[in-house]
Amino acid sequence: MKIDKLEPKKISIEDLAIFCKRRGFVYQSGDLYGGFAGFWDFGHLGVELKNNIKKQWWKFHVVQREDIVGIDGSIITHPKVWKASGHLDSFSDIFVVCKKCKKPNKIDKSEIGKVKCDCGGEYDEKNAKEFELMFKIRVGGEESYLRPETAQLIFTNFKSVQESARMKLPFGIAQVGKTFRNEIAPRDFLFRSREFEQMEIEYFIKPKQDLPYKIPNEKILVYSSSDQEKNKEPIKMNFKDALKKRIIKNPWHAYWLAQEFLWFKNLGANPNNFRIRQHNPNELAHYSTDCWDLEYKFPFGWKELEGIADRGNFDLTQHEKFSKKDLKIVDQETNKKIMPYVVSEPSLGVERAFLVFMFDNFFYSGNRNNVVLKLNPRLAPIKAAIFPIVKKKKFEKFADQIVKDLKQDLNVVYDRSGSIGRRYARNDEIGTPYCVTIDEESLRKNDVTIRDRDTKKQIRIKISQLKEKLKDLIDGKIEFERIGRLVV
Ligand code: ATP
Repeated sequence: MKIDKLEPKKISIEDLAIFCKRRGFVYQSGDLYGGFAGFWDFGHLGVELKNNIKKQWWKFHVVQREDIVGIDGSIITHPKVWKASGHLDSFSDIFVVCKKCKKPNKIDKSEIGKVKCDCGGEYDEKNAKEFELMFKIRVGGEESYLRPETAQLIFTNFKSVQESARMKLPFGIAQVGKTFRNEIAPRDFLFRSREFEQMEIEYFIKPKQDLPYKIPNEKILVYSSSDQEKNKEPIKMNFKDALKKRIIKNPWHAYWLAQEFLWFKNLGANPNNFRIRQHNPNELAHYSTDCWDLEYKFPFGWKELEGIADRGNFDLTQHEKFSKKDLKIVDQETNKKIMPYVVSEPSLGVERAFLVFMFDNFFYSGNRNNVVLKLNPRLAPIKAAIFPIVKKKKFEKFADQIVKDLKQDLNVVYDRSGSIGRRYARNDEIGTPYCVTIDEESLRKNDVTIRDRDTKKQIRIKISQLKEKLKDLIDGKIEFERIGRLVV
């Protein structure tokens, strides 16, 4: 068999949007009526990929840890929450128009006078306006807002969760859910939209509590705020060394940055496309002592993928002040009441993670003459495609039974139209890791062929073992070549 070489294929964000539409991953919302800027609908494959991303995030951050539990808070919440959190008074961007290309854009307050439009033009700062980012809604006679972040629901439920789940510091509360921001200039496909989902953790510690965990032994490009000021390049180094050299000051920060990077790496993202960037002092929120972003090299430049801020005890203190309820907890060692600190707030947009996995897994095979979406099997929308080798009743009946049985546990499809080559290509392009074919021999010997998407290798296995082996392959518990007899 010819060795099949898969080459990473660099595509623009516009090309990805076209691919996603054609293959049923993502559609522009309201397309029928000309489209609605900043809103996207996920198609039959997109919803699976998105759900798998969320499921894997939850597994890694909640299910597999003893120190984090989850919640699912309401999207519309008490309006006072946004007063206490400071969003009502300060969650806004500056609306500017470029003098050259005339396009509107948003800039942060700290960027006034310092940044130019992507086209190189200057912004008309004389006419700059403050722009409220929260969507206002009416609930009965009252005014409220769609939540612009999930984090505040974690703070307002903090005491109840700590008591009912009997959590001891250090511990975290996680949440995944919809978020809404009235972005001035939604752009770059899913990257900046007006409705998106966040996966967030608030990690609480006692003030100055030591880190009880090991920092993973991983290397990444590190871009300190001082190197940014001096216009130097980021340096590749180990998270532990960045801590030793005091570039990252807090061990908790080094730990969480490494964890978040690892999550992406373990799910098949390309580690060379990641870096961590420290916020400059003028970018920091007033309550934050340090903030790092995990950045990704998008085709339109290095951009924030995930923010990992230190929020101190600002939020709990604010909610205590506004609600007049005691939100402190008793430290069991000293028996004294303390206000916990949020030492790290990893906050990641599901859609930005979606883009990363699409870009980093977009490969092309010259030999096959088709795209191969090399998604990790855990993320792949369809786990296996089952097809009879030719369209004959006897094969179809046999295949029907296999599909019915697999479908009880796995998202598989029965693909019966087109040539075998066409069916392989179609499944390569949507990232299906395994194709199962049924032929003459299957009827006699009760076995099938499984074909691996990335190597095209084929193995024959007994039907009685098919489901278990597929599950092990998807979970990464066994190598493909060890599941049965290699035939091609
Ligand atoms: P930006 O500077 O890009 O506007 P931000 O600093 O306001 O982002 P955060 O408030 O830190 O973003 O939000 C946490 C995460 O939520 C971001 O890292 C990103 O992954 C995601 N996110 C924020 N805004 C959007 C958006 N408009 N569309 C899609 N994802 C978003």
